[in-house]
Amino acid sequence: MTSISEIKKRMKETSAEEVVQSLFDKIERSKLNAFITLTKEQALKEARKADKNGAKGALAAIPIAVKDNISTRGIRTTCASKILKGYVPPYDAHVIGRLKAEGAIIIGKTNMDEFAMGSSTETSFFGPTRNPHDLSRVPGGSSGGSAATVAGGEVPIALGSDTGGSVRCPASFCGVVGLKPTYGLVSRYGLISYANSLEQIGPLGCSVEDVALLLDVIAGHDPRDSTSHVVKKKRYIDELEDDVSDIKIGVPKEYFEGVDKGVEKAVWDGIKLLEDMGASYSEIGLSHTKYALASYYIIAMSEASSNLARFDGVRYGLRLKKDKDWHTTFSEIRADGFGEEVKRRILLGTYALSAGYYGRYYLKALKVRTLIKQDFENAFKKVDVLIAPTMPFTAFKIGEKIDDPLSLYMADVNTVPINLAGVPSISIPCGFANGLPIGMQIIGKHFDEGAILRMAYTFEKHVEATE
Ligand code: GLN
Repeated sequence: MTSISEIKKRMKETSAEEVVQSLFDKIERSKLNAFITLTKEQALKEARKADKNGAKGALAAIPIAVKDNISTRGIRTTCASKILKGYVPPYDAHVIGRLKAEGAIIIGKTNMDEFAMGSSTETSFFGPTRNPHDLSRVPGGSSGGSAATVAGGEVPIALGSDTGGSVRCPASFCGVVGLKPTYGLVSRYGLISYANSLEQIGPLGCSVEDVALLLDVIAGHDPRDSTSHVVKKKRYIDELEDDVSDIKIGVPKEYFEGVDKGVEKAVWDGIKLLEDMGASYSEIGLSHTKYALASYYIIAMSEASSNLARFDGVRYGLRLKKDKDWHTTFSEIRADGFGEEVKRRILLGTYALSAGYYGRYYLKALKVRTLIKQDFENAFKKVDVLIAPTMPFTAFKIGEKIDDPLSLYMADVNTVPINLAGVPSISIPCGFANGLPIGMQIIGKHFDEGAILRMAYTFEKHVEATE
């Protein structure tokens, strides 16, 4: 992997243009299929400009990859869907404006599950992304392209989005660091919605430091997103101390049920290591965890059925060749433009919201969501952070689960409760099983990214020292 500091060093020795060119050489030879669109010309132009005028900003001339559901002005943004294959947004997402203001160079748009619905990056219209640790395996999803390209050393940092685990799952499967911020910390303006009450844009990188730096750039209030919070701007990078001696860890026992032995052991080893460094831990119960998956999928699909209604061939989406009546246009375009998984979710979501079923499914799911939130609030009265496996297993084979959607949904058992509660969580590599990376997630209180970053940083430093 190639960290930001490594890139900076190489840029000093050669030039921004040479470094950016070398990344493209690598990507163009890559077998990962991590990108849907590359922005080589523009990126090289910006690199040359940085060489000439000097690079400025927190991410001065640093190359970054961006998930393809984040709007980029003048750069095709497809959500990995056929229905948006020719869509070029006329505006930048808030986070893209922030990246540009801090001097970052966007090198391309990364592959993902169609409309971010999935955990394997196999539902992309542009074909699956591959895991750099084993090309026959999935990189996780839905931000699989972002995680794989960082893990493959093609780019130091990337942006993903996390509705129910889509930053943390691929971070775990690819052995990189990925953070889902507190709901409301990062503006969703320009993020193409899948399930808007759950999702956040989040940073991925090969170190905690790089992820903290990227979070510093994208976090902050934006009036264009009504759910964006006004929080006092801290610099997360300044909070990265190598000290966890005052931290109380809670270990939610429900998050270890049905988890692979190798994963369980690696995460417990991680907890013990933090204990050796002065943190204390106790087991804790989050008793509504067993209802989280059902609640999440009902809410996510219901919101998706509404959010995706805009892709109708008039405002967005494909166009029919001949003029036809509205109903035919709407259904033909959507039948052709959406993939199977997206259609399944629109149908199920519409069903859950329909008269007669609304109370039975959607409202009930919202009530469960409140209970899950309360579980976290109660836990955080006793402890500062929670630690658990990110995923119950390591990366599986491409094709292994694609015909069994339910088994794919079940894989999200430890990631979705965090989105239902809106709290932040970071996934960091904590070992390997059969040569495949394992991720451990550290979950924090609302807007307490500082604490989870500090724990992750200390852990990473200590692991590095013992390697
Ligand atoms: N796998 C989950 C889903 O399919 C999460 C996806 C995401 O976070 N975007 O809904």
